[in-house]
Amino acid sequence: MEKLVYKFGIGKSEGNSQMKDLLGGKGANLAEIANLGVDVPPGFTIITEVCKKYYQDEKNIPSDLRDQVYEALNLIENKLNKKFGDKDNPLLVSVRSGAKVSMPGMMDTILNLGLNDNTVVGIAQKSNNYRFAYDSYRRFIQMYSSVVLKIDHYLFEEVLDLKKQDLGIIHDTDFSSLDLQEIIVEYKKIVLSVTGKDFPQDPMIQLWSAIEAVFDSWMSNRAITYRKINNISEDLGTAVNIQAMVFGNRGDNSATGVIFTRNPTNGTNFLYGEYLINAQGEDVVAGIRTPQNITIKGKEDSKSKLPSMEEVMPELYQELKDVCQKLEKHYKDAQDIEFTVEEGKLWILQTRSAKRTIRAAIKIAVDLVKEGLITKEEAVNRIDVKSIDKLLHPTIDERAKYKVIASGLPASPGAATGQVIFSADKAEKISQHTKVILVRIETSPEDIHGMNAAEGILTARGGMTSHAAVVARGMGKPCVCGSQGININYYKNNFVANGITVQEGDVITINGSTGEIILGEVPMVKPELFEEFSQIIQWANQIRRLKIRTNAETKQDSEVARNFGAEGIGLCRTEHMFFDLSRINAMREMIMAKDTNQRKQALDKILPMQIQDFDQIFKIMKGLPVTIRLLDPPLHEFLPVLEQDIRDLAITMNISVDQVKQRAAQLKEHNPMLGHRGCRLGITYPEIYEMQATAVFEAMALQENIKDAVTEIMIPLIFDLKEFENIKQIIDDAARKVNLKYNVILEYQVGTMIELPRAALMADDIAKSAQFFSFGTNDLTQTTLGISRDDSANFLNDYKEQGLIKKDPFASIDKEGVGKLIAMAVKEGKKTNSKLKIGICGEHGGDPDSIEFFNDLGFDYVSCSPYRVPVAIIAAAQSMIKKS
Ligand code: PEP
Ligand code: MG
Repeated sequence: MEKLVYKFGIGKSEGNSQMKDLLGGKGANLAEIANLGVDVPPGFTIITEVCKKYYQDEKNIPSDLRDQVYEALNLIENKLNKKFGDKDNPLLVSVRSGAKVSMPGMMDTILNLGLNDNTVVGIAQKSNNYRFAYDSYRRFIQMYSSVVLKIDHYLFEEVLDLKKQDLGIIHDTDFSSLDLQEIIVEYKKIVLSVTGKDFPQDPMIQLWSAIEAVFDSWMSNRAITYRKINNISEDLGTAVNIQAMVFGNRGDNSATGVIFTRNPTNGTNFLYGEYLINAQGEDVVAGIRTPQNITIKGKEDSKSKLPSMEEVMPELYQELKDVCQKLEKHYKDAQDIEFTVEEGKLWILQTRSAKRTIRAAIKIAVDLVKEGLITKEEAVNRIDVKSIDKLLHPTIDERAKYKVIASGLPASPGAATGQVIFSADKAEKISQHTKVILVRIETSPEDIHGMNAAEGILTARGGMTSHAAVVARGMGKPCVCGSQGININYYKNNFVANGITVQEGDVITINGSTGEIILGEVPMVKPELFEEFSQIIQWANQIRRLKIRTNAETKQDSEVARNFGAEGIGLCRTEHMFFDLSRINAMREMIMAKDTNQRKQALDKILPMQIQDFDQIFKIMKGLPVTIRLLDPPLHEFLPVLEQDIRDLAITMNISVDQVKQRAAQLKEHNPMLGHRGCRLGITYPEIYEMQATAVFEAMALQENIKDAVTEIMIPLIFDLKEFENIKQIIDDAARKVNLKYNVILEYQVGTMIELPRAALMADDIAKSAQFFSFGTNDLTQTTLGISRDDSANFLNDYKEQGLIKKDPFASIDKEGVGKLIAMAVKEGKKTNSKLKIGICGEHGGDPDSIEFFNDLGFDYVSCSPYRVPVAIIAAAQSMIKKS
């Protein structure tokens, strides 16, 4: 006969934690801990195969199952000296689902099964607690009727509410045993009127219908939806766990509680938990009574006056402490344990890996290594990289309650509060005395000073690689972008979100980690770095192969990134250096120049500034590689928009306002992202790149030791070897001149970004001359998918909702499509140049899933914004651990 039932807590368990496929997570775990000698209420698990058979056989319970269930039930009865259905000394059981993968709250559970009009009296007399017995019976009828008989829950709630009104009481706990008996009569009437039958009194009928109801709940709408969302296979089926009930509400020598083997908030190695004397599990959660601390330390820390379990039940406390140690050693991880004390006997109901904050997770992982329980690799692997951001930015206090008025894309993590300001200039001015959130339809490089001054940035348009998103991440400032739910009106100085009007000056909070926009101020938690975090980073550094660089162009960003452990700069976007108010005019002059001569004059003004920029960066990055990208964006981004700026420029250039406007109109493009940008600028205006290359080499020559400036000059947006060589010539010529000037031989590399599909297709050719490739995955995603990176937020959400895409391709690399191009380009490039260095500097360089992909493709480095460097370090280590 096929074995369909596995016992636990009755002699040696028949299962173990390896058998999750068959026993489900809960059943396997209970079997495992019972075998460790931990007292769990005895029970048995009906295997998942039975659930599958149930559905294959038109929802019929296999006949073999009955005898096996009766035999197991019998063993429980013998062990506890109680009898299922006995009127004097009845055994009550719980019937719970338990799939291989946890599906919290999605399937059904029935407690107190076995109660009827007779057994309730037995329980009342045995416990000498009538109230407890009738309350359990009431709860059972309600639960059974809802789960098995499918009677609407509210019908029972209504009875309870009416009774409370009648009696003038507020809480369920105020009902007397007599009240409860009257309620039970009402409940039974409901059952009869809805089903046409009496509430089943036969415990065996109760049991089998409950088992069927659990199987049925596997195919309930909510379970199906949950599986779809979480990618869980329908074929798994659920197990059913049937377990003796134990009660913590049998008097003052009974109790129930939850204990964490380590503090789940800060990770310190102290037991941490709460319990209630004479109570049931749900009373601890319901908050009707104030739970007491388990340890004396906990009581002192929380300044509680109520006695701790350590004081009230010292022996049981000691026993519980031993169980905690045993389970933690066994699972090699902090546990969250539910227990019940029934008349002086400790029962463990459940143990699972304790949920914890990222801070606690890091401390616990490091401590477990020190205690010899896990390896450094295991410790690093246990860190949820996506939560690291919480350590580096202020976050909203988890206990805070707040109202979300709209939401957008979580473009740059952390939370910020401030007054809504709609213009960059005003934001800069006001930020000197108050905190500001810059709110724009979208940002452009012109807004950089306002972004810099603001606490956070909110935009109505733009995707995960839009200007606002990229710049905010670089600055480490919270940003929510592409928030379609807000309607900004610059003229009225307000925005409307779901009918709520927010005026300039009103305070809002944005959560860049979730995309939430909140009215008013919300309590925050400040970030702080700590010893164990540095330790994890250090171990991750030992494990990873990928180098981690940063995208930085300012002194501050470079310093932040170095402090976080960046090993060089993978992308210095030189255009970002020109938006400073002191420089933008010279840049505009250069753009508006009517001929080469005039352009060169403007460039002469810019040259010393660029030299200074690069000199600073070389000094900070001393000896580490610095990839400097030549000017890339469409020139119109630099053009003045405001009348005042146009006038200023006209005066500087000694031309009329109309001439400025005319030139600006000429520069306007239909499709600037595919227009005159990238290396195309260098093809048309070689003098721009000549100036930039000269500045790089001049700055190199300035270094005390020229070897300290490890320089890689990067050409953007090429699609062809000829283009590349044309620009490389300009760079090499500039180097030659500087070499001659200072009588030095400067070493540098010239490489290219691969950010157009054609560049990827021509990789073998381009690599003949390029010394490195850096994948510009922002543009490569844009051009491969044909989706504008600045407009994608308007519709990608619909794609997500309709299940057409799983992730935003601008945030996490599209492995099948864009990834295929990248893999091909790497392979082809290395064919003609075996020394070709490979990196990535698009926003995907800071995304853990994408990092794993690049690691697997053999990349040399990833480059990401400064605040993502620790995330990238750990993700790079984890991808090595996964491979091993
Ligand atoms: C890219 O396209 O991936 C890139 C890094 O360049 P930018 O974002 O500056 O266009
Ligand atoms: Mg690009």
